[in-house]
Amino acid sequence: MRSDVKHIDPVSVDKIAEDKSLQQRDKQHLWHPLTQHKIHPEALPIVKAKGAVLYGDNGKEYIDGIASWYTAMYGHCNDHILKRVGEQMQQLDQIVFAGFTHEPAIKLSEELIKILPNNQQKIFFSDNGSTANEVGIKMALQYHFNKGEKRNTIIAFEDGFHGDTFGAMSASGLSVYNGPFEDFFIDVKRIPTPSSDNIEDILSLLLSIIEQNNVAAFIYEPLVQGANAMHMFEPEHLDKILEVCKTHHIITIADEVMTGFGKTGKTFASEYMQIQPDIISMSKSLTAGFVPMAVTSCTQNIYDAFLDDSVGKAFFHAHTYSANPIACSVALAGIELLLSHEYQDHIKRITSAHQEFNDRIKNHSKVKSTRQKGVIFALDLNIEMDRYGKKRYEIFDHFMQRGIFLRPLGSTIYILAPYIINTNQLDSVYDAILELLEEL
Ligand SMILES: *Cc1c(COP(=O)(O)O)cnc(C)c1O
Repeated sequence: MRSDVKHIDPVSVDKIAEDKSLQQRDKQHLWHPLTQHKIHPEALPIVKAKGAVLYGDNGKEYIDGIASWYTAMYGHCNDHILKRVGEQMQQLDQIVFAGFTHEPAIKLSEELIKILPNNQQKIFFSDNGSTANEVGIKMALQYHFNKGEKRNTIIAFEDGFHGDTFGAMSASGLSVYNGPFEDFFIDVKRIPTPSSDNIEDILSLLLSIIEQNNVAAFIYEPLVQGANAMHMFEPEHLDKILEVCKTHHIITIADEVMTGFGKTGKTFASEYMQIQPDIISMSKSLTAGFVPMAVTSCTQNIYDAFLDDSVGKAFFHAHTYSANPIACSVALAGIELLLSHEYQDHIKRITSAHQEFNDRIKNHSKVKSTRQKGVIFALDLNIEMDRYGKKRYEIFDHFMQRGIFLRPLGSTIYILAPYIINTNQLDSVYDAILELLEEL
């Protein structure tokens, strides 16, 4: 019997590649995110990752001080998760989620509802943090539409970050690089992040925005703004803003893509507030660095606004890989780890290590300010720097030469390491920062 499948000889494929380095081959066809290729043509090849360590093709090891954008919080290639994914891969890989269902998604919805703030009732799947927010924004807009109200304005924080698709990008105030797209944005009004100095002003600004516009939703990162250099604010101030939104039937959307799954010391940062959001978006460590997936959860009230005898009021948003069973199995295994005593102890251990480190450096002459929430620690250097300027790359190199992967945001250095980072590894990260402070 003749096989129609073309036989691919892996040896011959390898042969083409063997006389060129990964770095050279990378440059031929790849286009990297957030990269000006004319100035920064080189990308460092990583061949392996395990626990808190990345292995370069140059033979060097790097401690992953930011858990690869806070995804691999349980450690890279975590054995418990690997086992679960392996089992799931033998069982069911992918199925259309419109009209079909499967146990990994059902079980994940049950487990998420157990750990989410208790007003959350429904789970909607998508692929990444941007789409999770896109879904949240669309849900909020259609919620009002379905109720016969025309509401088209979104309120968001200045300097917030919600992703790079159009809705999410419109809501992102941190848009220095969004110039080419601004003409196409949805209508967003901005308020500053709150502090005890400005909260009263913010509340009056909020009220005037509400008076002059038809506000559909308020989207915010609860307590910590990741991309905005880990800027932090207080729960009681956010509560006051949320209270005004609730009073005016404005749908509140908590973007927990960064803060979710234990990083602030609680499972979700929203737990620090008295008032719970209508919608919560999550991704990143939801799938522990293994595969992309995202979830947007909402209240029964939001969900009910889409129920009708006609199809027209349904939520017609779908991604092909919605609720991919393999991704769901990863998320389930991740939640098991998060809730275990072992990981809860890790979170406490890192939190107090950061506090001690903070005491050591907060008065250093090169340190302008420091802040911490749970395992998230950030310090601002006492120097002026561009977000992607030359100095920023020098500092990045300083860490890499010492085997530490940290990704400075302008003059801010932050640590958000995997929960399993051990004390020695964490000390190496601190030491590299101390050395930098001495050398500056
Ligand atoms: C990373 C991030 C996003 C975007 O998620 P992607 O998966 O990169 O699309 C949105 N919001 C916050 C708070 C994030 O940290």
